[in-house]
Amino acid sequence: MNKKVPITRFPDAVAVTYSRAIRKMVLELGDETLKQFEKHIELLLIESRQDSTKFVVDGIFDSIKRMLKAIKNKAEIVFSERKTQSAAERFVKSVNRFNKHNIDNQLVVKVIDPAQREPWLDSFLNNKIKDNVSYVKNIKDDYLSEIENVVRDGVKEGRTAKQIRKQLVERVGVAESRAQFIAVDQTGSILGQMTAERHQQIGIDKFKWLTSQDERVRDSHKALSNEVFSYDDPPTANGRVVLPGEDYRCRCVAIPVFD
Ligand SMILES: [Zn+2]
Repeated sequence: MNKKVPITRFPDAVAVTYSRAIRKMVLELGDETLKQFEKHIELLLIESRQDSTKFVVDGIFDSIKRMLKAIKNKAEIVFSERKTQSAAERFVKSVNRFNKHNIDNQLVVKVIDPAQREPWLDSFLNNKIKDNVSYVKNIKDDYLSEIENVVRDGVKEGRTAKQIRKQLVERVGVAESRAQFIAVDQTGSILGQMTAERHQQIGIDKFKWLTSQDERVRDSHKALSNEVFSYDDPPTANGRVVLPGEDYRCRCVAIPVFD
C-alpha cells in the first residue's frame, strides 16, 4: 500500500473569482466616470473649441468639481464598506477552504489525523480580510486621484475632449491590472502562510518548493524548485526571505516533507 500524497495545489479559480469581483467594481466606477465626463465637461470643451470668443473655459473648473463630486459619491456606493468587506471575506475564506481540503487529503494518505482545532486561524483570517479591504480601497482611492489629475491637467493643457476621454479609459485599465495583481499576489501569500501554519501545527517542519511549472515562473524560483527547506530557515529570493507563494505574484507551493 503506497498511495501517492496529492500535491499542494494553487487555487487559480479563487484568484480569478476575486480578481473578477474587484474588476467589476472598477468597471462600474469607470462607466460612471465617462458618464459624468460627458455630462459636465465634454460638451463645454467642444463648444469652447468651436467658438473661441466664448469664454466657456472660465467656468470649467466648477464643472470639474461637480463631475468629481458625482464620481466620488458613486465610489462610496460601489466600494461601500459592506461590499469591500464581503468581497475580501469571500476571497480569504475560499483560500482557506481550498487549502484545508487539500492538506486534509494529503494527511489521509499518510494516515495522520487532521488538526481538530486551529487556534491561530481566526485571527489569521481576520487580519487577511482587513488587509484586503484596504488593498481594494487603495485601488479606488488611487483611481479617483488619477482621474482628477487627468481631467484637471487635460483642461489646463488644452487637450481635446477625445484625448481626455481616452486617458480616462486608460486609468480604468490601470485599476483593472492592479485588481488582477492583488488577487494573484494575495492568493499566493495567504496560501503560503496558511500552509506553513498547518504543516507546523501537525509537526511537519520541512517543505519542498514546487513551482507552477509554466513559462511564467521566474528564474529565481526555478532555482528553488524541488529543493527542501526548513520552516525555521526559508530561502531568500530577490533579496527577501520568502515562503512559496509569498513573493510578488508567486504561484509556487510547499509540498509537505513527511519524516
Ligand atoms: Zn514562485
